[in-house]
Amino acid sequence: MKIRIDKARCVGNARCAAISETLFPLDDEGYIAVSEVDVPPGQEQLARRGARACPERIIVVEDDSQ
Ligand code: SF4
Repeated sequence: MKIRIDKARCVGNARCAAISETLFPLDDEGYIAVSEVDVPPGQEQLARRGARACPERIIVVEDDSQ
């Protein structure tokens, strides 16, 4: 599973990092620091929750098991 994030549209409210600072690391200014993340096994639920938590809807979870 992968997470893709449209970084340029991040508004920096840190809702994603509140779900998981590991999956959704922020830069020094509080914006999302990554545009693509490989989700470690067992963290799929957190990835989905983080995507739902983003009010800008810029986090997409790609589930390659489907
Ligand atoms: S929740 Fe969305 S807008 Fe907010 S910091 Fe995370 S990626 Fe950016």
